[in-house]
Amino acid sequence: MSRHVYLDYNATAPLRAQARAAMEQAMEVGANASSVHMPGRTARGVIETAREAVGTLVGTRPANVVFTSGGTEANNLALEQAQALGCARVLVGATEHPAIGEAASRAGLKVVVLGCDANGIVNMSELAQQLAHPEPAFVAIMHANNETGAIQPIEEIAKAVRAAQGILLCDCVQSLGKLPIDLATFGPHIITISAHKIGGPQGVGALAMAHDVPIAPVNKGGGQERGRRGGTENLIGIAGFGGAAQAAHAQLQENHPADLRIIRDAFETRLQQAAPDLVVFSQAVERLPNTSCFAAPGLDAEKLLMTLDLAGFAVSAGSACSSGKVSRSHVLGAMGIEETLALGAIRVSTGWQTDAEDVTKLADCWLAAYRRAQATITAA
Ligand code: PLP
Repeated sequence: MSRHVYLDYNATAPLRAQARAAMEQAMEVGANASSVHMPGRTARGVIETAREAVGTLVGTRPANVVFTSGGTEANNLALEQAQALGCARVLVGATEHPAIGEAASRAGLKVVVLGCDANGIVNMSELAQQLAHPEPAFVAIMHANNETGAIQPIEEIAKAVRAAQGILLCDCVQSLGKLPIDLATFGPHIITISAHKIGGPQGVGALAMAHDVPIAPVNKGGGQERGRRGGTENLIGIAGFGGAAQAAHAQLQENHPADLRIIRDAFETRLQQAAPDLVVFSQAVERLPNTSCFAAPGLDAEKLLMTLDLAGFAVSAGSACSSGKVSRSHVLGAMGIEETLALGAIRVSTGWQTDAEDVTKLADCWLAAYRRAQATITAA
């Protein structure tokens, strides 16, 4: 087992005990949820219990939850509905995850990318201008950004989209479990979510709707998920998603995100007091309480990641989803962050196993690297 201090929850959160327990139970079932016999009905029960837990976490009826193989598939499935829902145009935010950005063009529709301000918040006048077009639009704007944590004004966006007879898809993969979501009042028609960001297993997610929006399957098959997503359900994964959703719901009720905000804010204050030229991205707007993305001039994220890794810290440079290679993230690019600064960006994302002292140690480790870089610059 790695002894690393894990501060990369936005990439994948550690498996929760409740998710593990639910999966272990589901492993004992050994039947297909479509079978009519007793073991089959037991498998069906496991899936429907999980659907209820996920529905509760996002404030919708279980029937409005469609399980998929993850957030990426859920976003692709949602975008594929645009035309059938009467939208020939797709409007996407410039800071969307590639699971929206890349998938939008795949749907074969006219795609318009909406710009954002220096904090990554979507340009509302550009949105209004696009919504004034006579053809209704399918709009995809994420709830919270995976890199910076910036939270979009979804309620306001939803009002504008609904007034223009459009459809709003909101990628809630990062906000799930970190912010309360109640589809009854939130605004989007469709949201997408993923189990592994809330302590469930990787490879399972869902599309959830405020009301019953007709969803035609991309994966055609045996009519599972009420004909909205064919293929034998991932029984064990779905069970784990349900377990994680229950635990995440309980933690939201206990206001656990407020504790994370205190840790995050103390971390950023410690950094900014010792490194006055440090920039915390999207710091001027509401952010996910667990996320901090920052950089200082002259630092290289790739080297920093290695230094921090050797010191026992697991963090990310920009988006872990597209990592492996470190290049300027499209999110920081859209926000107009200079390439030289953006290439030093580190993302720290905390969660329920995070210890405040470990985060302080990470700040000190980063500051030591910063001071070494400053000394090299001064000596040169
Ligand atoms: N949307 C956002 C905002 C994400 O951060 C991610 C993953 O990082 C995804 C979608 C993709 O989800 P999944 O990994 O379940 O396919």
